[in-house]
Amino acid sequence: MNRCLLLLAAAALAVVPAQAAKKPGKADQAVKAELLAHIQELASDAYEGREPGTEGEAKTLRYIGKEWFEIGLESGTNNPRHSWFAPVTLIAREPDGSRAAFSRKGRRVYVSPGAVQAFTSGKRSLIENAPVLFVGAARAMPTRAELAGRVALLLDGGQDGSERQNALLRAGASAVLTVLDGERTLDNVIARRGRSGYALASDELGGDLEAFITREGLNGVLAGTGQSVDTLQAASNAADFAPRPLDLAVSLEATTRETRINTHNVIGKLAGRRSDAGAVLLLSHWDHFGVCAEPPAEHLICNGAIDNASGVAVLTEVARKLSALPELDRDVYFVATTGEELGLLGAHAFAENPPLPLKQIVAAFNIDTVAIAPAGSPFAIVGKGMTPLDAGIAAVAKAQKKKLVDGEAANAYVRRQDGWALLQHDVPAVLVSTAWSDVPRMERFMETDYHRPADVLKPTIELGGAVDDVNFLVALTRHFADAKKVPTAAK
Ligand SMILES: [Zn+2]
Repeated sequence: MNRCLLLLAAAALAVVPAQAAKKPGKADQAVKAELLAHIQELASDAYEGREPGTEGEAKTLRYIGKEWFEIGLESGTNNPRHSWFAPVTLIAREPDGSRAAFSRKGRRVYVSPGAVQAFTSGKRSLIENAPVLFVGAARAMPTRAELAGRVALLLDGGQDGSERQNALLRAGASAVLTVLDGERTLDNVIARRGRSGYALASDELGGDLEAFITREGLNGVLAGTGQSVDTLQAASNAADFAPRPLDLAVSLEATTRETRINTHNVIGKLAGRRSDAGAVLLLSHWDHFGVCAEPPAEHLICNGAIDNASGVAVLTEVARKLSALPELDRDVYFVATTGEELGLLGAHAFAENPPLPLKQIVAAFNIDTVAIAPAGSPFAIVGKGMTPLDAGIAAVAKAQKKKLVDGEAANAYVRRQDGWALLQHDVPAVLVSTAWSDVPRMERFMETDYHRPADVLKPTIELGGAVDDVNFLVALTRHFADAKKVPTAAK
């Protein structure tokens, strides 16, 4: 019906010769059927888009827990009070109250309603009667002494405006009041900042206070002083411009509404024969966006078939294969993370409160958005060159007769996947998949179904590469779980 289907059709035609050349064996057919069954289940409407804290989460946890238990994994939380499901508390924050009042020489100055909007990065921020320092476009940063205890009045710089706001706050301003340039309206700002932000409950809160005032609003405040936004702008453009106090004080208050979300990482384990030898970690996020569209759209759920029911499916089938093998040296942990779509939060929570010391993790493999490459595609390493794992991966690829793509194009996505959260904690984490070996193909998915209600299980779903991923991840895990081949935590 649209460009997307045409592209899929074109892609399907393009891979026919490759598929015809290598007929998948019986074992691969069985894996494909299992992958399809998991995706069908997890991406069905009954799971309501797998949003953290919803009934969709409860269903997802039950499904993954049951599958992993039946495969023969044990709980990997290493906490008898929370078998299988490690609690993660998230906080959703959205702007709530905003108040602004101006005064000159102790007398209130009228500001038209709706001309100012204040935001805080904390729960509540308040400043009373702070002197206003006009900093122009902040091309040169005022000194800490100039900014201390003052509100910096900043001329809007469009794109890089927020960068300069942050710089002023870091340099010691009590708050930053930005004069909108007319291209950005207050409604634009509210729409942009009004969306919920998410964080772990354990994260430290800032208390930065940022406010925005319309041109007309500030002209009203300056009325009768001989100054206006135009004169300020002209002054700011002068070569000898220096920040200067205005004869004006401002009180600003902003509050944030907070909602707690109780969610969970699922953690399973396949015990090795030498639990003192460290561990290999495989992870994949189970969460997605829940109900993400509004009527009159017909389909309102972001089912997340490819992102990331496919990844959980691959993770589960890797677990099944590994559990059928003779015991490995090292423990293998399987983690289905929550809150990835809200900022890799489940992976951060795992790293902050891990079931084993992080330095014991020899290698971590993330699995995300994997059902888009045909069978026989080469593999890419997202995170190539960032860990000591590359040589081992190349050796396994050679032994398995798999091709790794040259170059580091897939690294463009390294910050957008759970492995990034682990890398921040010095865990060697990569994503090795066929899905990421062709960046234009991935970008086509991103431009069409990705993060939209269209990411449903389609009859055209391509699972050939996902089956290859299962086999390669099994081989990689066996390699890195072998204490002789990989003697120490590779650091
Ligand atoms: Zn996503």
